[in-house]
Amino acid sequence: MTDSTTNNNKIDATEENQIEIPIEIVSEEEMALIESAFSLASAARRSFPCSRISRGLSSSCSSGAVDFEDLGRVNKKSNTKNVKLDSLLIRFRKKRGLYVTDITATEWCEKQMEFGLLFGKPKITDAMKAGIARHAKLEEEVTKKVEVRVETLEDIWALKFINFTICANQLMFDGLTRELPVVGLVQGVWMVGVIDELRMPVTENGRNLVLVDTKTRRQPRIPAEPQCRNGRLQLMCYKYLWDKLVSDEFPSKQFYEYFSLDPEHTLSDDIKMSTADSGFPAETFGEVVNYFRNVCSTLPPAHDQLLLRYELQDDNSLIAEDEFSYDDDWLNGQISSSLEFWQGQREAKYVLENEVWKCRFCQFARYCPSQTDANSETNFQTN
Ligand code: SF4
Repeated sequence: MTDSTTNNNKIDATEENQIEIPIEIVSEEEMALIESAFSLASAARRSFPCSRISRGLSSSCSSGAVDFEDLGRVNKKSNTKNVKLDSLLIRFRKKRGLYVTDITATEWCEKQMEFGLLFGKPKITDAMKAGIARHAKLEEEVTKKVEVRVETLEDIWALKFINFTICANQLMFDGLTRELPVVGLVQGVWMVGVIDELRMPVTENGRNLVLVDTKTRRQPRIPAEPQCRNGRLQLMCYKYLWDKLVSDEFPSKQFYEYFSLDPEHTLSDDIKMSTADSGFPAETFGEVVNYFRNVCSTLPPAHDQLLLRYELQDDNSLIAEDEFSYDDDWLNGQISSSLEFWQGQREAKYVLENEVWKCRFCQFARYCPSQTDANSETNFQTN
């Protein structure tokens, strides 16, 4: 059996299967972030460290059976026909969970997020590709991927939990890990994400666990405040999810029900071998989840200080670091507001009045009522 403390090989699903896998791409550089609501809403998502399959995303966009001419008239159209549509959460994230990047994209502009879900499939820009490549490189510095074949949804989730435990072992023994997948129930909604980096160095004052996120930029300066705020929101979401996991608040029963997973399901041979290689031989999916929960209970909560790093895309040199404090009230307010939109409790809001500049970079501007209505200024949110 392989010593789990020395095996840092993350596991990667092969592309032989046809299963749709929820994955996530995070844009990391300036322009990608400016377009993030659009970009993150649909096809571009960064994968969990264990899953590099990207063909399972079509359902996000294909179900938006609305003509392009209807852009910007979605709500009006549904109202006049008196049709009650399912919420965006049900239509686009059912059995997948909401991505942390959905929350940040919604914070950027809810209307843009809505457009992206209903109609858009973004172009992945060169800048975005560079950001993604940088993250892959950072991950390679601390881990090596091993491919395995997955056959069922239970296998896919088992992979995520195996990779979580590999990352957790690496964090405890090496003091550093990257691309750690997290999942949790937040205000009644399942949320998933991938924490960029976790550091737990040994210091004179003990060991503090610090969550870190690196953004790559084309320009050698820190971004505007709305972009910094968006990055802070992302990191706070990760801390929230991490702290819930390690305080043993993972509701397994609800997890199985929501994602339609069977704890008695026998894992594929490849996954069984992976669990054994990782130090915890398991036969069923439920055994993996139980092991995952045990591992979580041994881990510390994250420190309240969080760290955003800005790197120059050209040479990966450090531009600046933004160290800030976790703010539970602010985060919960942001998530509540976002969920009101996702759960269909109100219509999408437009950008704040003093952030109208975002519209200049929006690929939906020509269809957006904020730009096309005669009284467009009334659409913007007051500060
Ligand atoms: S044009 Fe502005 S308000 Fe409209 S979707 Fe784009 S960013 Fe949002």
